[in-house]
Amino acid sequence: MPFSKLGLSTPILHALAELNYHTPSPIQQQAIPLVLAGKNVMGAAQTGTGKTASFVLPILEKISQQGEDLRGKRVRALILTPTRELAQQVEKNIVDYAKHLEISSLAMVGGVDSEPQKQALIYGIDILVATPGRLLDMMYQRAVHFDQLETLVLDEADRMLDMGFIDDITKIVDRLPGNRQSLLFSATLSKQVKALAKTTINDAVEISVSNHIDNAPKIDQCLITVDKDKKSALLSHLIKENDWQQALIFIQTKHGSAKLVSQLEKRGIAAEAFHSGRSQASRNKLLENFKAGEVKFVVATGIASRGIDIDELSRVVNYDLPDQADDYVHRIGRTGRAGAQGEAISFVSRDDFRNLCAIESRIGHLIERKEVEGFVPTKEVPVSILNYKPKSKKGNGHYKNRKS
Ligand code: AMP
Repeated sequence: MPFSKLGLSTPILHALAELNYHTPSPIQQQAIPLVLAGKNVMGAAQTGTGKTASFVLPILEKISQQGEDLRGKRVRALILTPTRELAQQVEKNIVDYAKHLEISSLAMVGGVDSEPQKQALIYGIDILVATPGRLLDMMYQRAVHFDQLETLVLDEADRMLDMGFIDDITKIVDRLPGNRQSLLFSATLSKQVKALAKTTINDAVEISVSNHIDNAPKIDQCLITVDKDKKSALLSHLIKENDWQQALIFIQTKHGSAKLVSQLEKRGIAAEAFHSGRSQASRNKLLENFKAGEVKFVVATGIASRGIDIDELSRVVNYDLPDQADDYVHRIGRTGRAGAQGEAISFVSRDDFRNLCAIESRIGHLIERKEVEGFVPTKEVPVSILNYKPKSKKGNGHYKNRKS
């Protein structure tokens, strides 16, 4: 089915053709007609399935057909995202898709001066993409009003809940007009997500895309078992031995990322740390340089697992396994995007066993194991139990800093 059959008009179809989007992905085929028809939608879609366009395209279509003038400080559509990076990524997609339309958009995130955001809002913004914390600040300062709002999107709702944004979201939603259209997207429609939907979305049509082979990112996953104190040497070895040109390396802590960067540098490998302790401006600059290939290796904490969309990112390395199994899925989703081939390598030591069980249980299968000569672990890593359920999700505090 071509995009032209979905009810989108020529300026949008042109922009899609220029981006080399030929066929709508399954989530787009399902969501676009429903959103155009004014339905409330709750969609389960993994990252990398094209879910952003599935809500942005019909929103653009509806706004472009609007006659009503937008008043100052008003917004027609609001998209809430869990991280700054994702907000910026979504807003960039809007700009690309709206290339031939007169539609304004703004990413409103924390960590940067709010004055330019206030200025941008003065004449109204058609589509506002925001993280919850900054948006609430702006609402309290009366820099933005929602009496002209038509559409609300909660993007990556599961992640917003994991990050503790529930109270902020409730406060925001309470101030929105009741007759709006509401859309919610989430990697999983867990009980908590459905509970959120109950209070924010009436009569939602539920859609989901299964991991169909044409739709799922093509990611080769493997585990390398290694002793914890050998991980840094193993990483340097793999980079040099295989002449890697690029990798996004995930590590648990800010301190760990700085340490690993200096260990790599001692071995002649230039790398940069990406974490919440760096200013938003330097995070943006670093991403730009990484995308341009000027920085080859980025050592990131979990904050980077969403919202980084780098064409042709060929490799993700989990230097540490994440505490939350869902984060594994999101991290590896940074590669293999839009049908490209990607590789996800995880270093696993005995200490990682519990997280490994949770991850392999979550994805429903064991991940292929490898050993590298010279790095065979002295402490064996047992084979996972596949029906493992972590005792408590509380206390996995790497998202304690929920400031947006
Ligand atoms: P998303 O799941 O929204 O993060 O999208 C994942 C990637 O797929 C992004 O790089 C999009 O630009 C790309 N994409 C989205 N829809 C399509 C499509 N119909 N055809 C080709 N690429 C697409």
